[in-house]
Amino acid sequence: MVLKRLSTRLSALYGALFAFGLLMTALAGYLSIVGNARQTAQSELQAAARVFQRVWNDGAEVQAAGALLLAHDDGFRKALQNGDADTVGGDFAVLQKRIKADMGFVIGADGQPMQGRGDPVAVAVAAALQGARDLHPRAGVLSFASRAYQVVAVPVLRAVGAPDRLGWIVFVSQLDAVEMQRLQALAPVPATATILTQTQGGLWMDAAGSERGADADSLSFFVDKSLRTRAASLMSGRGGQAVGVATQLDSLGGDQKNALLLSYPLKAALRAYRPALSALIAIGVLGLVFVVLTSLYLARSLSRPIEALTQAALALREGRGGQIDIVAKDEMGELADAFNDMAASIQERERDITRLAKCDPATGLPNRSAFEDHLQALRDSGVAEQGGVAIVCIGVDRYAHIRAVWGVAYGHTLMARVQDILGGIFAKAYIARLSGDTLGLCLTPCGAGQALPLARAIAARLDKRIRVTDDQSLDVRVSLGVYHLARSRASDDCVERALIALDQARAAKVKVASFDPRVYSELADTLLLTDQLHAALQNHDMMVHYQPKFSYREGRITSAEALVRWNHAERGFVSPQRFVAIAEETGAIRDLTLQVLQTCIDDQRRLKAEGFDLDISINYSGRLLSDEAFNQRALRLCRQAVGRICLEITETAVIDDPRIGLAAINTFVEAGLEISIDDFGTGLSSLAYLKQIPAHELKIDRAFVMEIESGQRDALLVRSSIDLAHGLGMKVTAEGVETRAAFTLLQAMGCDLAQGYGIARPMPFEALAPFLSDFNGVVSDVEREPAVGERRRAV
Ligand code: C2E
Ligand code: CA
Ligand code: CA
Repeated sequence: MVLKRLSTRLSALYGALFAFGLLMTALAGYLSIVGNARQTAQSELQAAARVFQRVWNDGAEVQAAGALLLAHDDGFRKALQNGDADTVGGDFAVLQKRIKADMGFVIGADGQPMQGRGDPVAVAVAAALQGARDLHPRAGVLSFASRAYQVVAVPVLRAVGAPDRLGWIVFVSQLDAVEMQRLQALAPVPATATILTQTQGGLWMDAAGSERGADADSLSFFVDKSLRTRAASLMSGRGGQAVGVATQLDSLGGDQKNALLLSYPLKAALRAYRPALSALIAIGVLGLVFVVLTSLYLARSLSRPIEALTQAALALREGRGGQIDIVAKDEMGELADAFNDMAASIQERERDITRLAKCDPATGLPNRSAFEDHLQALRDSGVAEQGGVAIVCIGVDRYAHIRAVWGVAYGHTLMARVQDILGGIFAKAYIARLSGDTLGLCLTPCGAGQALPLARAIAARLDKRIRVTDDQSLDVRVSLGVYHLARSRASDDCVERALIALDQARAAKVKVASFDPRVYSELADTLLLTDQLHAALQNHDMMVHYQPKFSYREGRITSAEALVRWNHAERGFVSPQRFVAIAEETGAIRDLTLQVLQTCIDDQRRLKAEGFDLDISINYSGRLLSDEAFNQRALRLCRQAVGRICLEITETAVIDDPRIGLAAINTFVEAGLEISIDDFGTGLSSLAYLKQIPAHELKIDRAFVMEIESGQRDALLVRSSIDLAHGLGMKVTAEGVETRAAFTLLQAMGCDLAQGYGIARPMPFEALAPFLSDFNGVVSDVEREPAVGERRRAV
């Protein structure tokens, strides 16, 4: 659209407004000029009309005076009375010579003209005077046969003062074009004079009336109005608009009405005003041009700062300054100042935000984001490829503890001090605070082989007493993770990898560790496994296998340990050690334990139906002990069992939180469940706690049992463990009995039960009943000879 721009719109608006104003002024001027012209024309026309009347009256008076003299002449009167046409004609001829009328004649007593009887004008005049009763002279206009005449008629009386009339002395002047022109020449303005006669139908016509045609109506209307108001007004004439005035003329007689129309073309009337009009138009045009130019200038001066503001706002949006330069002192100047202030504070805030986003507010050190930017810059510039970059993450151990004891501010100061020390060692290294307790150090150039030794040196330097504040020092311990950015790799998460290396160092309880991708991929796999485990539990994909336990005293299988099995569709068999650990971490261990418990109880019932009484041991994760609600659920389930149920609990679980652990175990024992201390020997056993646990059984870990034949120490350990258990009133199960030698040795040591591949591997439920009937049958055959261990080894 053309008027899209503000400046154009403003100019157009101003221009239109001013032009309208000018037009109105010009119109007013024009109207007043025209009104003035009309007024002048009117008074001039009225003056002209009066002049015309006077001229006619004067002529008529002269003619009437002459005629009166003759009418008073006794000789003439006598001759007229006697009908002496010759005498009358002679006397009248003398008079007519003096008067100089166009035409003249005497009308006799009979009412007929005495001379020129055939003249139609004379006949018409005689006819007009026919009905006249008065004895006074008359003057008036007579229209006849499309012509107008001025007639003066003086009556000739029998005697002066006598009441009867002998005839008329008549003078007729033609009111033709020549006469009109003569009259027009007398008028002060070049008016056109026309004699109009009213027709029978009331229309006013001039001598050439028939030619007027359609104009006749409007002309008649105008004349009637003009006669009524006696004022001049505008009329449309043949040559355009004109000012006209009509005056009633005395008629000679009869019903005839005549009028004099004086008209004056408006054009002629305005001619005098033409210079004024031209000046008005010129002033208007000049004014308009001036107004358009001024409004253009005004609009530009308004819109230019707005455009400048727009440009500045765009620049601000794109982050390029955004200051404008407007020096005006008006509102625009104020707006520009306000805008500049705003732009400046926005930029300042932006700088603050950027600074805060890249900085650790407590220490003023660059943060992880800044660290990553720095690494990216190194990569982009090719420095990383040329010399190699080592990323070292330095984690202050037990930071949470330090913060809890000494306060948050102290923690920050400590980190700043560590940064100082690092800065002292590596003047050019880039150091950032990656998280509360971890600093990141970027070393370049640094070869792949140099990174680890450097990290060890750093560890040695930092593992010292560090002066944190003026009056306080602290024994600091650090762990370090190292990741080397080699040429070929362009991984984006190198900081993450260095941090993982730090975690790996802590997990492996070493000072320094380099990023190990195998562990890393295991981590990713753990995540996947977690999901899959969740799904497996939902679908009840878990199976329970049973590993029989052999009782030395009874010489048969009296119990079995339930071991959970997960055969994943894609992964195949997943080690319970792995997924049980995940289940413990994620809480899925609850579902898992309940499912195993339920299966065991069902299986035990089925076995009993088949005639086998079998105690079943179930692994009960130590973590669950602290969940009282869960313990109650497990208890309710166990109450449904038809045989004995034993819960195997790792000793360390109890030691982790002895109070809660012991309370839970007591509840189980009171409810009639058996408790077994699993994996005995692997944890840091405390005799004090062992004494408090109301367990029924101690399970010696397979690590010792399997070495029982080869190592003296292990044999001793096992033996003393058996004695200890017996001393505390517990029976003992040895796990991992694989050989006949171990089997026999354990029996000799007084062990109560044996469990291991040497007796039987964990088997599905379906295999259990056949195995039991087979095994116990065989045992009874050989009178409980424990040779079965040998036999089973082949399994
Ligand atoms: P654990 O309680 O010590 O279970 C005994 C483990 O020793 C079983 O491994 C068993 O197959 C194995 N084993 C038995 N005899 C021998 C032998 O003669 N030689 C050798 N080398 N090993 C033998 P599995 O089934 O892989 O179970 C590993 C661990 O997973 C179990 O250790 C237990 O801590 C846990 N676990 C298994 N099932 C469950 C369960 O249902 N609930 C809980 N919470 N943990 C379970
Ligand atoms: Ca166990
Ligand atoms: Ca065990």
